[in-house]
Amino acid sequence: MSADLCAFCRIIRGEQAADVVHSDASVVAFRDIRPVAPVHILIVPARHMASLHELQDSETGLLDRMTSVAREIAAREGVDSSGYRLVINTGMDAGQTVFHLHMHLIGGRRMGWPPG
Ligand code: 5GP
Ligand code: ZN
Repeated sequence: MSADLCAFCRIIRGEQAADVVHSDASVVAFRDIRPVAPVHILIVPARHMASLHELQDSETGLLDRMTSVAREIAAREGVDSSGYRLVINTGMDAGQTVFHLHMHLIGGRRMGWPPG
């Protein structure tokens, strides 16, 4: 157990339990522990980076990969035709609480706009 790692790094290393739905060399996805909708999955880079804003311009291919994984999972979860939302909270005003870059995949119910 590595106390210095963030919660998502512990999940990625298999040191903390999670319902993992996808794992490859660059991207891992698991169900949110406090789901806000019937489908609520977090898609994260395997390598730790605190937020979207820490991603280098040369690394934006990682976002393509995360989006691609999100689309695959959305189809597998059966929300591809009903619709879903991808959200990357970045920093304090956006309400980011876990400082390991993650994309929320949320679906399975109607959502309002604008977000609160
Ligand atoms: P944020 O507010 O940073 O965009 O979202 C962080 C998300 O991570 C929240 O929806 C929260 O429920 C989820 N979360 C926090 N800790 C854990 C954890 O240990 N395991 C899992 N599966 N989800 C977590
Ligand atoms: Zn981390």
